[in-house]
Amino acid sequence: MKAAVYKGPCEISFEELALPSLLDDEVLIKVAYAGICGTDLHIFSGNYRTIPPMVIGHELSGEIVDIKTKQNTKFKTGDRVVIRPTIYCNKCYACLRGYKHVCKDLTMTGIDYPGAFAEYLKVPLDMVYQIPDGVSLKEAALIEPLAVAVHSVFSSSLKIGDEVAILGAGPIGLLIGQVARLAGAAEVYICDINDFRVGKARELGLKAINNQEIDFIEYIKRNTGGRMADITFEAAGSKYTAEVITEITSIRGQMVIVSAFRKAPEFNLLSVTFREQTVIGTRVYSDEDYRKALVLLQQHPEITGVITHIYSLKDTGKAIEAIREGKDVLKVLIKCQE
Ligand SMILES: [Zn+2]
Ligand SMILES: [Zn+2]
Repeated sequence: MKAAVYKGPCEISFEELALPSLLDDEVLIKVAYAGICGTDLHIFSGNYRTIPPMVIGHELSGEIVDIKTKQNTKFKTGDRVVIRPTIYCNKCYACLRGYKHVCKDLTMTGIDYPGAFAEYLKVPLDMVYQIPDGVSLKEAALIEPLAVAVHSVFSSSLKIGDEVAILGAGPIGLLIGQVARLAGAAEVYICDINDFRVGKARELGLKAINNQEIDFIEYIKRNTGGRMADITFEAAGSKYTAEVITEITSIRGQMVIVSAFRKAPEFNLLSVTFREQTVIGTRVYSDEDYRKALVLLQQHPEITGVITHIYSLKDTGKAIEAIREGKDVLKVLIKCQE
């Protein structure tokens, strides 16, 4: 099979690899589309735990072409599926308490094991989900970042009529904005420093500004009558967002941290106590988030408007470079079949 292989910092090579051979309770998936994630960019630049050579990519849709199991399974060849790339140890404190998504030894397909930027991949059966009727393979490739958004919104106590602020209008920020609206937010304010992303956020019905042109703190103040946002989502992972988040969040408001900061940022704990604010950490998603995200895809296909570009498998390296250069892109998919 053809695959885009991460060979080391800033190097992806297009290679011919052997088809993965199945162990018990595994499925072979013919990958249709695979999304490029912020994590893939970190891996590409050499700033992640992934050990090359590795086929990366953990956001995908495809079709089951082989199953090896003695169990009774509802899956069969030809099924259209997505995968939840998280792999749990099932032994640690978090796993035993039912919080497998924060497993002490959480590993992932496409980061620690061969992933999606290939014509085929294999995964354990319990990581596979059926794509609902009416959802295309292209739309379904958005499942993983959408599950992140679902997990973030449902980690907060968002109620109908709440004012929501989002820092960062990348694919995750925009998906959170759309999920928050569907969950009842009165208004969603979002900022970014990239005009293409600001424009896309407006197209998707969010109140968006470029925070290098307009002060986001003042903007939130003006729009909420000085009350500030009931819930703020941090989806950029920058020094600026860590600085302003306590300012744009209301007294007793919630701050949901979605980004993986590469360096621990400065953060105003004095505001947290004086204004009785709550900080909520979120990591990936649970099985339930995945199921909810699949329902959202079926009922609200407009959510997939964050997909802006599709590259061929052999151009995976070029696609990653285009995102790194900050070109006018949001979610970029790789089409894994000719
Ligand atoms: Zn991802
Ligand atoms: Zn565990």
